[in-house]
Amino acid sequence: MPATILDGKALAEKIRAEVAEEVETFVQSGGMIPCLAAVLVGDDPGSQVYVRNKQRACEKAGIRSILHKLSAETTAAELLDLVDRLNRDPAVHGILVQLPLPKQIDEKRVLDAVTPLKDVDCFHPENVGLMVQNRPRFLPCTPHGVHELLLRHQVPIAGANVVVLGRSDIVGKPMAILLMQRGPGGDATVTVCHSRTKNLPEVTRRADVLIVAIGRAQFVTAAMVQPGATVIDVGINRTEAGLVGDVDFAAVKEVAGRISPVPGGVGPLTIAMLLRNTLTAARLQTEY
Ligand code: NDP
Repeated sequence: MPATILDGKALAEKIRAEVAEEVETFVQSGGMIPCLAAVLVGDDPGSQVYVRNKQRACEKAGIRSILHKLSAETTAAELLDLVDRLNRDPAVHGILVQLPLPKQIDEKRVLDAVTPLKDVDCFHPENVGLMVQNRPRFLPCTPHGVHELLLRHQVPIAGANVVVLGRSDIVGKPMAILLMQRGPGGDATVTVCHSRTKNLPEVTRRADVLIVAIGRAQFVTAAMVQPGATVIDVGINRTEAGLVGDVDFAAVKEVAGRISPVPGGVGPLTIAMLLRNTLTAARLQTEY
């Protein structure tokens, strides 16, 4: 029997509606309209689309969005100066620096400069540390979106063998941490794989839940998946055939129990969780 499709687009719409309702309540009770400042450096077409989608989603949820568009020749000092101004602007609650940045700019230095209370991507070491210690201020948007997709479809996590394929700071590493935490939504037995993992198919076949974030088009084949497993595809790869994930969807859906598609899976959830973090940031700054 083919797998159940985990519809990230539909869930994202639901979460966005929930956030919109919470924003309304927050504003009605005297809170400032939450505001996200997006910083886009250069003219990478993919980044432009991402930022536009994020801005539209903000507006639909009643969140203000401001775009700072800088040229590809921007220096690190100029960008740091803008980040500093946004950090100090009381009308801005969340700051999003769209990656990648042009090569003359050290990404880590810029991300570290975003004040932790406005760090809606959860990239700042202080926020990553809080997440690791299971007392999060924000959760990183993509892993948080995957987590919601699993939880709201009642995918068993506690005690499950979860394999995370990929160990980036943005997706794989925080994903593994969220699922291994003690308590509700966690308690999984997590294995993290990467390009140096030996006998990869053997490891992935042990997964009850397989989460793939490697950036290799259709890399995960049916032979790498345990029958009945839940497969989450984080990958976004632009190919001649269009947008595809890291999983060979057509073949794997015949083996898996549940599978998330690309597009319409994790991508929309990432944006929904960014809205949630922007509201959280506005709340935090109201309290401080
Ligand atoms: P990175 O390139 O930062 O990390 C890729 C990871 O995959 C690395 O840990 C790497 O291993 C591992 N890897 C690469 N090739 C292999 C291989 N052949 N076998 C095993 N492991 C391998 O990628 P990101 O985590 O940033 O992104 C991953 C994918 O997710 C991309 O397609 C990206 O576009 C997508 N993405 C989607 C988002 C969404 O909203 N849906 C958000 C963010 C990313 P090693 O560490 O050894 O190099």
